[in-house]
Order: sequence, then structure tokens, then C-alpha cells
Amino acid sequence: MLRANRCGAAVQNDPYITLITAEAPVTAETHGGRAKCLQRLVRLDMPVPQTVALSFAAVQDIARGQMPDIPRILGKFAATDLLCVRPSSEDPDWGGPNAVLNIGMNDARYDELSGTMGQDAAAALYLRFVQIYAIHVARLDPDVFDDVSDDGPAGLSAILRAYEDETDEVFPQDPGEQLVAVLRSMARAWDGTTARLLRKAKGAPEEAGLGLVIQRMIPGVGQGECGSGVLQLVDPVTGLPQVNGRYLSQSQGRDALGAGASALFLEKDERGPSLEELAPDAFADLKAHAALMREKLREEMQVEFVIQNGEVRILDGVRTPRSPRAGVRIAVRLAEDGIIPQQEAVMRVDAHSLNELMHRQVRPGAARDVLTTGIGASPGAATGRIVFTAAEAQASAARGEPCILVRRETSPEDVRGMHAAVAVLTEKGGMTSHAAVIGRGLGLPCIVGASGMRFQTRKKILTAPDGRDFRTGDILTIDGSSGQVLAGEPEMLEAALDDSFQTLMRWADAARDIGIRANADTPEDAEAARKFDAQGIGLCRTEHMFFEPGRLTMMREMIFAQTPQGRAAVLERLLPMQRDDFTQLFRIMQGQPVCIRLFDPPLHEFLPTTRTGQRELAEALDLPVSDVERRVEAMSEYNPMLGLRGVRLGVTVPEIYDMQARAIFEATLDASEEGAPVVPEVMIPLVSAKREVELVKSRIDAVAAAVAAERRCEFDYRLGVMVETPRACLRADEIAPHVSFLSFGTNDLTQMTYGLSRDDAGRFMSAYVQKGVFPEDPFHVLDTEGVGELLWLGVERARGECPGLTLSVCGEHGGNPESIAFCRAAGFDYVSCSPYRVPVARLAAAQLAIAHQLGDADE
Ligand code: PEP
Ligand code: MG
Repeated sequence: MLRANRCGAAVQNDPYITLITAEAPVTAETHGGRAKCLQRLVRLDMPVPQTVALSFAAVQDIARGQMPDIPRILGKFAATDLLCVRPSSEDPDWGGPNAVLNIGMNDARYDELSGTMGQDAAAALYLRFVQIYAIHVARLDPDVFDDVSDDGPAGLSAILRAYEDETDEVFPQDPGEQLVAVLRSMARAWDGTTARLLRKAKGAPEEAGLGLVIQRMIPGVGQGECGSGVLQLVDPVTGLPQVNGRYLSQSQGRDALGAGASALFLEKDERGPSLEELAPDAFADLKAHAALMREKLREEMQVEFVIQNGEVRILDGVRTPRSPRAGVRIAVRLAEDGIIPQQEAVMRVDAHSLNELMHRQVRPGAARDVLTTGIGASPGAATGRIVFTAAEAQASAARGEPCILVRRETSPEDVRGMHAAVAVLTEKGGMTSHAAVIGRGLGLPCIVGASGMRFQTRKKILTAPDGRDFRTGDILTIDGSSGQVLAGEPEMLEAALDDSFQTLMRWADAARDIGIRANADTPEDAEAARKFDAQGIGLCRTEHMFFEPGRLTMMREMIFAQTPQGRAAVLERLLPMQRDDFTQLFRIMQGQPVCIRLFDPPLHEFLPTTRTGQRELAEALDLPVSDVERRVEAMSEYNPMLGLRGVRLGVTVPEIYDMQARAIFEATLDASEEGAPVVPEVMIPLVSAKREVELVKSRIDAVAAAVAAERRCEFDYRLGVMVETPRACLRADEIAPHVSFLSFGTNDLTQMTYGLSRDDAGRFMSAYVQKGVFPEDPFHVLDTEGVGELLWLGVERARGECPGLTLSVCGEHGGNPESIAFCRAAGFDYVSCSPYRVPVARLAAAQLAIAHQLGDADE
């Protein structure tokens, strides 16, 4: 028989089934976090009731039908003890089957306990056990007990009768038999498909082990002050120090938490009576135990306790559940109190979770009326009245009414509306589509690809999958963190860039070894970049500067110019505006590097797409609408993302880059006169051939020379290329010698490597991820295999030719922790991402550096 030598031994030195003592061979990896924590409490001399731990191996055997020696286990407890069994998974956050309390209750024990603690109390214990056993062990439908409404002896008789009627058996009376059934059912539940899926969702390996702990029950009912409760030393939402929790007299388990007004506060509280007033000594003991646990277990712990006749017993301790913002404060306070080192505090905070601190969010636990789930493209939550056009959004903002802009997809014409809205919702798009990029830049909650809803933007009706219609003025909430579209106005939690956050980020920066810059196009973006301590601007998309109403029209005039002279005249008017844009950026960034990308998008993106827009343009240009229509038609491309854009414009319509280069250099001199010297970085987009770089470089050098001569002032600048076509990666060795830096645009590179439109991928991305075609959305998490191989080749070939070349990644992946790990390993000098993702990137990068120092980096 398997493990025959072990089954009989619930002894101290047997890891299979072991009594938890200070020396017992118990580890989290073999017995689970709960068992290990109980051992730590035992070592601290805490009043923990006698407990036996079953290892993962023992529980696996039980699931396969091989029971341990039950009499020997029971032999570790007094014959009169009631027992409880709780799950002990390796990481307590992975959950486990429900605890079963009061094992050992039967008719005989009921009679005995009725004599010592009173009939009602004894009946409550028995009744609870029968109920849990029936539902979780015998697997009866809970509604079998619908008719049992009484407590006490009457309720007990009724529930026993209902059990017998349903199972045709009397309720098991033998404690050994009860324990066998409980253990078997818990072990098998962990092995079931539902449990596997649940723990997979929590990030646990499917094959994760389960241990069980069998503990002597301290009843929590009976003579004197008896009861149970749960205590934490912090507020789980804010992380601020505060005795938190409830206590309920004559209760067990976590009854106190669901007891409403009848439960006591723990510490004295204006809102009602407290345990501190009822049993001051017990409360003082409890608080001291909790403080000792925090110090010695080096963690903020939630304590489950029982008071039996005035004496405190500690049943269990688990890591206090916490919101992301509480997680930061708790880690920082533990380090500030000297309990953990600062680097450990940095390692303890999940970098992704910072997203939730930087934005308002739906309060954890608030009721959510979820209409659908799209792609959460820009985190944070906002509530507003829906509007269907940019103009309505502006009108709404003018009235001081928060609004949500609902569009099938956004275009440059919607940018004004996006500025005016508190959130954006689109039917189409993915992580790098227009709405997503602009939303993240503005720190605006945004959901794209919400194709589960029907968008009738002309009729101004939005229809949820359940058939509910929403019209202009109806209130929705956009949760850009989860991608959920919610009806109404759930309770919110404000952003929390507080002292703890700043402290954590300071510690992170001290450890980090890869630079983090921000993608910033406007003064507001640049201010945000500084606020989040980015080390410069890694990408300024200059086309975004032309989306303002006055400039959009001018841009259109430039595009419509029929002759070089006509175009030059408009560019002349645009020049001072661009110079002003750049001067502002340089001033805000105070000498930090600013990388300005020359004009990139296809020109047709600037053409009016609506009748009204075309009429407005016709008025501005004094042309018939039909001319405008014709020109729009003539400029349309079959595949604009692969058409006349980026450096192709720079080569074919060079005056645009000339104007931009002049604006950059004049701004450099202006800003350097008053503040820190500026060394601008000028970046050429969408390059695929060396000759493109040569052509553009020679004109930019010429503009630089001309500006230096006119202003009689020398200045430095750095020219770089954006590597975002597969060919540029492959030919990086011949491009590198012409430039000072290469910045890899992984958005376009992903698009072109997969041959997958970044603006249309949202339609089927979730199906692709669900079916396991892609492990993740490659526009969100860098595809380290395919796109990654091109990056490796690019890095290797460029550095092979020019070892000191600065290399960076400025696609949206720069803000994604998993992708940063790749960038660091591949030797990039910095990554650049939306300003609001900068803190996430800083923390993730610091964690990689610390892990590397500790020797366990995943590289
Ligand atoms: C990119 O392609 O990765 C990039 C940063 O440029 P954009 O998103 O503006 O195309
Ligand atoms: Mg690009």
C-alpha cells in the first residue's frame, strides 16, 4: 500500500501528517501558507489551538482514495474536542475549499455540551456542522434547508430530519467517519475542474498543491464572554493604520463580519459599542498579538480569533487583503518601521497595480452593473453623461457637465471632444489605436473595441448586449482599468499619489538600471512627464500638435496647397506655432532630453471625413465643396498605414520637415537663452532604407547650419531614426552609422511583423487570446518571440557597427512590465511610454534590477 509506512504516524518529524510544533517539518511549499503561518505563530508562543497539518502529498493521496490513519490523527486531540479543517494552499491568495467547523458534533456530544454550555449554544454548534457538512460534503442542494427557520433545538431537529429525508441516512455520528468524509471532499474539490479554473484565474499553477490543517475548535459559544472575530491593524482600502474588524459574542468563524449592527467594533468607536469596552484585557492581548505578528511575520496580518470565557485564542493569520493603494502604503510603512528592507518593499508592490493609484477608480467592492467588457486601453474610471459627437462633448464641458464621448472609432477631429470628455468609449480599435493612444496621453479612462454593444452614433443610441438602450445624457461609467462599461454611477475612489507612493518611487529609482522616458506631445503631457519623474521625453508625436481647431484648418490648407509656393506660405504661418510648441516643451523639461519625431501620419488623416467638416474647409479655403470632395477622394489610399506617411512624406514633400527642423532649432536657441542648455533629438519615422536617412539628414543638417548662421550661435543636436519596419531592423547596421540613436517603434513593428492592423485587431483579439492563438494581445505585451527576434537583430546589428549608439523602445510596450524585462535583457538604454505609465515602468524596471542583483532574474 502506498505510504503504508507513513500513514500511521501523525508525529512530529513526519512531514506527511504532522502536529504543528515549533520544530515540525512544515514549509509553505509542502504544507501551504496557512500551515506555515500557524507554525510561525506557535514559535511566537501565541495561544494557537492544537493543529495537525496534512502535506500536499497526503492530500493528493486522499483525493485518490488513500486515507491516512484517522485514529492516529484523532489521537492528537482530546476525545471531547471538536475539530475544524481549513485549506492551506501554497499561496493563501489561491483560495481553497470552504473550512468545515465543529467536526465531532453528534447526538452524544450535543447532550453533553447542552449540560455545560446550554442547549441553545450546543444546538448552534451542531446545526452549523450539519449545514456545512450537508452542502459541502454530502453535496446537498442548499434549498433542502429552506424550510428550516428555527435556531436552537427545534432548528436542529428540523435540519437533521431534512438531512435524513434527503439522503435516506442518519447524519453520521462517528467523528472518524465525519473527518474522513470532510477530508475526502476537500481534497477532491481542489482537484475538480472548477477549482482548477478558478486558481488559474488567480495566477496559480493548475497543479498547485493543497495542504489541510485540522485544528481543535475553540467553540466561541458558552459561558462567560465567548465569541469570535477578525482583526486587522490597517484599513484595507487606504492602508492607513487603524484597528479594523468586528467581534460577535457567541459566534464562530467569520460570523462577526456578516453580522451587521449586532457585531461590535474592536477599538472604542463613536459608531457603536466595542470589544475594547466589553473586554478590555482581551482586546489589549489581541492587539499585542497582532502587533507581534506584524513585526515577526514581516507582514500586515489579518488575525482570526476566538474569545473563550474571556481568554483570547488565535486561530489563524493571513496576509491582510488589500487594495493596490493600501499595498503601497503597507510596504512602505513596513520598511519605514525597520521591519523589511527598502528593496523588499519595492519588490512587494505589483507594478501593474500602480495604474490604479494614479487614477480615480471604482471603489473595490462597490456594486457594478456591467453592460459589457471591451479593451481597457487607458486606465482609471470616470462617470458621465454620454455624448456622441466631439461638439456635444465640448458643449457639455462648457456647461460643467462631465461627459463620456461615445464614438465608433476616433479620428483627429475628435481630439477636441476627447479633451472635453472625462472618458471615451469606442466600438472599434485596439491598444494602439487612435483613441487608446490619445486617451493614455491625456490620462483619460478609455475603453476601445467594445464591440459587444451596438453603436448607432447617428441615431445616438448605444445598445447593451442585454438590450438596454442608452441615449444622449444617460449616465455611464467607464472603467478603463478592467475594460468594463457600467451603467450608472458606482462609488469611486480618488487617485492617491501620496507620500507613500513618492517614497516607494524614490526607493525604486535608486535601484533601477534602465532609463524611463515619457511619450509627450503637449505641454500638459510634458508636465505629467515631469510630475511622474520621467527622465526626458522619448517621443513627441508632432502631428498631435496640429489637432487643435485653428491649426487643423491650417494643416488642411497646407495639404490642399496646389503649388510649392502655396505650401511654403502656409508652412510659414505654421512655423511660429511649432517653434512655440517646442520652446514650451524644452522649458518644461528643463534641459532633460526631448526627442521630437518629425511628422508621421498619412496626410489624409487630416482631411475632413464628415460633410460638415468638408463644408467648413471649403469655407476656409474659399473653394466649392465639390473641389474639397474631389481632393479628399484623390488623396485617399487603399492602405494608408502602409502608404504616404513618415519619412516617405519627408522625402517627397521635404518642406514639411524643413519647417519642423527650423522650428526645433530656433526653439532650442530660445529655450537655451533663458534656461538649461537644450540638446534636441530629432527623429525620422517609418524608415526602411538607408537612403531615406541620407536624404533627410542632409536637409536637416542644412537647416541647422542655416539657423546657426542666422542666429550666430552654435548648438548641438542629435539625429535619430525610428526603427518600426522589419526592414529597418534587418538593415540596422547600415542605418546606424548615420545617426546618434535608434528608437524602436514597437507599435508599427508589431503591426508589420504580424501583418495585423493595429486599428482593427480589437475586433477579434479577445477571440484570438481566448483560443490561445496569441498568449496575449501583442500590441499590449511585446511578442518576445517574433517581434522580439527582430529587436534582437536590430540591436545586435546596430551595436555591431556602432557600439556606443543609444537604443530605446518608444512603442506602448515601453510601459508594460513584461515587455520592459525584455528591453532590459536586450540591452536597450531606455524605454519611453505614456506619462501615466511612467511610474509603472519605473517600478517594474527597479524590480528587475533588484531581482538581478539577488541572482534570480528571469533572463
Ligand atoms: C510605434 O509605431 O511604435 C510608435 C511609437 O509610433 P506611433 O504609435 O505613433 O505609430
Ligand atoms: Mg509608428
